[in-house]
Amino acid sequence: MTIAIIQTILPIFLEEETQETEVPAILNEKLKRSLHECEMICRHAGIKTGEITDIRVNPLLRSAWGRCITDRINGTHKIEINEALLDDSVPDLSLKRTIIHELCHTVKDGHGHRKGWREAADRLEAVYGLQLSPANSAEDLLVPSSLSQVPSVRYVFRCSDCGLIIERYRRSKFVDSPERYRCGNCGGTFEQL
Ligand SMILES: [Zn+2]
Ligand SMILES: [Zn+2]
Repeated sequence: MTIAIIQTILPIFLEEETQETEVPAILNEKLKRSLHECEMICRHAGIKTGEITDIRVNPLLRSAWGRCITDRINGTHKIEINEALLDDSVPDLSLKRTIIHELCHTVKDGHGHRKGWREAADRLEAVYGLQLSPANSAEDLLVPSSLSQVPSVRYVFRCSDCGLIIERYRRSKFVDSPERYRCGNCGGTFEQL
């Protein structure tokens, strides 16, 4: 009797555990390898990138290709990547461009897309011909439209304390009145770039 009950319940648990938000480990491993290659590319171009403690797919990240989250206490960074970039149909270069874009945020004064970021990006564009624009569209990255919900970035904000970057694609309450919002990372205020 007990066995029969377990047999009917177990498959349901197994099914739930493997549902959606679960990211296959192989994708995060691929990201780690790609990160290593991208760090080498930056190094060869003479760019000193910051310490990355983690890189992973964020299945909930739909409004951007990637993002770089900086720990304001110890200055290390975590990179999150849009799952669409790991699809087999998307060229590897599109993933690398995105990782390198995020790595440019880890250089000294690399927050936002101003001085530090811009200098690193300009250098990589000059040395490797990489297009690292913050507003890459799905077309730019050769991501099939069926996989992507990422439109072009029109509004970029930065937390003045921890450097968290918020990119937005259309007007919203936040875009209209960023002063009313506080950073979810550290409680700081936002400035528009
Ligand atoms: Zn950026
Ligand atoms: Zn912050």
